[in-house]
Amino acid sequence: MPSRKILVINCGSATIKFALVDEHEEGFALRGIADRLGEPDAVLHWQHAGERHEQPIPGADHGAALARLLPLVQEASPGGVQAIGHRVVHGGERFTRARRIDAEVLAAIRAVAPMAPLHNPANLLGIEAAMAVYPELPQVAVFDTAFHQTLPEHAFRYALPDALYREHGVRRYGFHGTSHHYVSQRAAELAGLPVEDSCWLSAHLGNGCSTCAIVNGRSRDTSMGLTPLEGVVMGTRSGDVDPNLHSHLARTLGWPLEQTERMLNHESGLLGLSGLSNDMRTLQQAHGQGHPGAILAIEVFCYRLAKSLAALSCALSRLDGLIFTGGIGENSPLIRSKTLAHLRLFDLALDEAANARCVNGVGGAIHAPGHPRVLVVPTNEERQIALETLEVLDACAIRADVR
Ligand code: ADP
Repeated sequence: MPSRKILVINCGSATIKFALVDEHEEGFALRGIADRLGEPDAVLHWQHAGERHEQPIPGADHGAALARLLPLVQEASPGGVQAIGHRVVHGGERFTRARRIDAEVLAAIRAVAPMAPLHNPANLLGIEAAMAVYPELPQVAVFDTAFHQTLPEHAFRYALPDALYREHGVRRYGFHGTSHHYVSQRAAELAGLPVEDSCWLSAHLGNGCSTCAIVNGRSRDTSMGLTPLEGVVMGTRSGDVDPNLHSHLARTLGWPLEQTERMLNHESGLLGLSGLSNDMRTLQQAHGQGHPGAILAIEVFCYRLAKSLAALSCALSRLDGLIFTGGIGENSPLIRSKTLAHLRLFDLALDEAANARCVNGVGGAIHAPGHPRVLVVPTNEERQIALETLEVLDACAIRADVR
């Protein structure tokens, strides 16, 4: 049987990231991004057969960009694709796994949009545009939150009045589920352990950052909460702050809610601390030149990350390994080394030569001999979305056979 192919789509408000995934290959036949959608300088970038291409698509919206993608997909996969897998950020409590999209699923994604106002409406835009451009293809939603639906209640509840949870869904959901899921399975493979009998801590460190405790293939706790703001320090997001901060700033500085929200989401984290950049590459360079803001940002980032990992260890009965992934986790020996320096009580220690080697997509073990396992595992969220999309297709086919 020829291998099946899935088009994976990740829509932001002005972007569509896309990848064509072959079920039997780690790499992508086609991948790219449509950027600045709705603007006069909208542009489509893509890589196919080892070559980079760029095409202006002035004023294109999501639908127009997806229509422009159609011939590229046909060229990269003349046999067609079996389905489209959509990344959807928030699935609320409703979705514990990927789902084929129908009117009911669309309504449910819309219903939880107030909890992810920056993400779910954009994801919906992409789904609706893809349904119009590719009406004959099954469309599947893969949720960032679904992997964390196995959190026990003591991990997902806030210590707030019960009615806020029961009537308004105020609880911890967690995000980056596709990445934590993917890297924990890869880690088990690399370590030669069965997924269903393995215990991991994982640190996904990109522009958004989160940690996760994974036991026997299931998420048991994670650092993000009701929204992707909770937890560790990120590029422009603060992570945990005192919950009284909003009222403190309102009382003392007269800041309206929106101003505090913007500050916490877009002006804080590495950017806020350093006063320089949200980009770890820039900060590392400045750190090397003695820039005080960059030094402080990196110190706070690593300490708070270590603290979160130590806290999540409460969810584990043993530690089979600590996993680093995401742009920073996969590429920064400095951040890995500084974070581990705060975790000496766990007996974690690095082989610095191995640590230095694991960059630019090279993964592997980086712990010193005789110490607990530490792995760098390049994430592949597109592949995970494609695999979950295929599982949904297979399940639908089985149900159709049974009928
Ligand atoms: P996103 O969350 O948008 O997918 P990525 O996973 O690509 O982001 O991670 C982006 C982060 O990774 C940025 O802070 C970037 O500086 C950092 N990064 C990428 N390459 C390196 C590197 N070689 N060294 C340190 N940080 C890096």
